[in-house]
Amino acid sequence: MMYHSLTPSPQYVALRKTLAGQRATLRTRSELVNQRRTSHAAAQTALAGAISADAGARTRYALAREALTSARNRLTVVSQQRPRNGAAVTAAQNRVTATAKSAAIRRGQAGEAAAALRTAQATARSATTGLDRATAAWQATSETVRKNQQKLISLDKSAEFAGQAAALSRDVVTEVRAGFTMADTASVNGVTVHKSVSFAFRRMLADAKADGVVLSGGGFRSKKRQIELRKINGCPDVWTAPASSCRVPTAIPGRSLHELGLAVDVTAGGKSLTANSAGFRWMSMYAKKYGFVNLPSEPWHWSITGG
Ligand SMILES: [Zn+2]
Repeated sequence: MMYHSLTPSPQYVALRKTLAGQRATLRTRSELVNQRRTSHAAAQTALAGAISADAGARTRYALAREALTSARNRLTVVSQQRPRNGAAVTAAQNRVTATAKSAAIRRGQAGEAAAALRTAQATARSATTGLDRATAAWQATSETVRKNQQKLISLDKSAEFAGQAAALSRDVVTEVRAGFTMADTASVNGVTVHKSVSFAFRRMLADAKADGVVLSGGGFRSKKRQIELRKINGCPDVWTAPASSCRVPTAIPGRSLHELGLAVDVTAGGKSLTANSAGFRWMSMYAKKYGFVNLPSEPWHWSITGG
């Protein structure tokens, strides 16, 4: 069961790979959305500028036309004056020429502003379309990633298996205790554990190492050694005093899971795990996946039941 729980199905592996690719696509698309957002904002600013420039140019052209009309009217009036005032007519003619020239310039400028506005409008439209498309593409990929993540979770049976393993652990202890011999143990990286947990224990050490946490420890110990430890640890009585009454909590001989290779006192860098060590943090997060549970009063003690 532990083998199955820790060995993902081909479907799971394939989906995880697909999902990694889709996540990369999602990142690319997210970057594109940001770029398009920047372009869109710039186009909107440019459009606002062009609208204002166009309005200004049209106003100036209208004022220039008014000035030209007024100069022409003035010329008509002075031309009809009798007696004729030659100087006034010449001045009025000059005024018409000057305002006509100014109006022509303003018309040219208004035409340029209108053309610039059309360009800015086209750029803004295309920036809006670009942003909409990029957003839609991002949303589609995001939805695919979300669905595949859910699918992956539903395919991941390890939590389910771990739950089943916990339920079985008590029965395993009872069965193992009934007929235990040293032949039932195996050495995993120098740690002697019961064969029923050796696969999971090996995987746990390898996965921890891959995360930069190098774990080892003391697993199996004989009943004789347990008796010695009861004395060393100052238990009031070797056979009856509760574990908590010893200087270092030590189980009554015949009751320790160490005697079955089903408990390990875990070390990192040669030191027993403490509650704030990196090794303990790693174990707290992941050990349950491999069927190991901590005894809360001893951060270093991990077994299949937590006992
Ligand atoms: Zn222990």
